[in-house]
Amino acid sequence: MRKIPVLYIVIPCYNEEEVLPKTAPMFLRKLSDLTQKGRIREESRVLFVDDGSKDGTWQVICGLAKQDRHFLGMSLSRNRGHQHALLAGLMEAKDMCDITISIDCDGQDDINAMDDMVEKYLEGFEVVYGVRSSRRKDSVFKRTTAKCFYRLLRWMGAEVVDNHADYRLISARVMRELAEFKEVNIYLRGMVPLAGFKSTTVYYERMERLAGKSHYPLGRMISLALDGITSLSIKPIRMIAAAGMVVSFLSFLMIIWIVAQFFAGQTVHGWASTCAIICFVCGIQLICTGVIGEYVGKIYLETKARPRYIVSGRTYGEEDGGE
Ligand code: UDP
Ligand code: MG
Repeated sequence: MRKIPVLYIVIPCYNEEEVLPKTAPMFLRKLSDLTQKGRIREESRVLFVDDGSKDGTWQVICGLAKQDRHFLGMSLSRNRGHQHALLAGLMEAKDMCDITISIDCDGQDDINAMDDMVEKYLEGFEVVYGVRSSRRKDSVFKRTTAKCFYRLLRWMGAEVVDNHADYRLISARVMRELAEFKEVNIYLRGMVPLAGFKSTTVYYERMERLAGKSHYPLGRMISLALDGITSLSIKPIRMIAAAGMVVSFLSFLMIIWIVAQFFAGQTVHGWASTCAIICFVCGIQLICTGVIGEYVGKIYLETKARPRYIVSGRTYGEEDGGE
C-alpha cells in the first residue's frame, strides 16, 4: 500500500456561475469524506480554473475561496478552451500534490467514482480513467457523434479510452512527464495514454447537467475531433498519398482511353468527360490541400512555441491576483 496522498481536484469552469454554487459544496463534501476515511491527506484541495469566463464565475470562485481554505482558484487571462484550462490546472497542481482528479464542474460525472479512483491509486496505479458505463442521459445525437468519434480516432491509429472524457486520476509522476509534452495543440485524452504508466478504469453513470448549458455544440465538437485526430495521428497524410496513387492510376487508364478515342476520330464529343475529370481532380486536390493545410497550420503554431496558457490570478500565494 502506498502512502496516503494529497489530492487536488482540478475543475475547469467557463461561464458556470449558475452551476458552481450547486456543485462546489459537493466537491468539498467528497474531499472531507475521503479525508475522514483516511484515504487522502488533510492538505488536499479543490482547484477551480476559471477559463476566461464572461459571467460572474470568477467572483463565485473568489467567494468560495474566502469561505473555505479547501477551495483554491486560478483564472486564465482569456478563454482558451476546456483542454487548455485543464492542463493549466494540472500543471499548477503538480508540485503541490501527489494525485489530481480532473472533473467537469457541472455535476455530470458521478463524484462517488473518486473513491474507487483513489483506491486504485493506493493499489499502485498511476492513471485511473473514469469511463461512462452508459450514456442514456446524453442526447441520441451526442451519443452517436461520440461513438463515431471514438471509432474514427481508433481507426486513425490514436490510442484513446472509449467513453472516457476528462474525468481521471493522474499521479504527480505522470504529470511531470506530461509537462514535457511541449505541443500547443493539446488533446489530453490522447496524451495521457501516450505518457504510458500503469493505468486502469473505473465505471460511473453519466448524469445530466445540474444547471447551465453545454459549451460543446456541434461546431466545437467537430473542432475538438479535428484537434484530436490531427494532433495524434498522421494517418490522414498517408491516406492522401494512397488516394493520390489511386487517382493517378485511374487517370492513366483514362489517358489510354482518350488516346484511343482520338485515333477513332471521336474527340469532338469529349467535352462532358473532360469537364467531369477536371471537376473530379479539382475536388480531390482541394480536399488534399485542406488536410495538408491542417497539418501545416499545426506546424506553424508549434514552431511559435507560444505559452499554452497564462495565469492571471490566484486566490492563494504571494501574487494576489484575486479580487
Ligand atoms: N469548459 C472550459 N472552457 C471552455 C468550455 C468548457 O473550461 O471553453 C469547461 C466547462 O466549464 C465544464 C467542462 O469544461 O466544466 C465541460 O464542458 P461542458 O459541460 O460544457 O461540456 P459537455 O459536458 O457538454 O461535453
Ligand atoms: Mg458537461
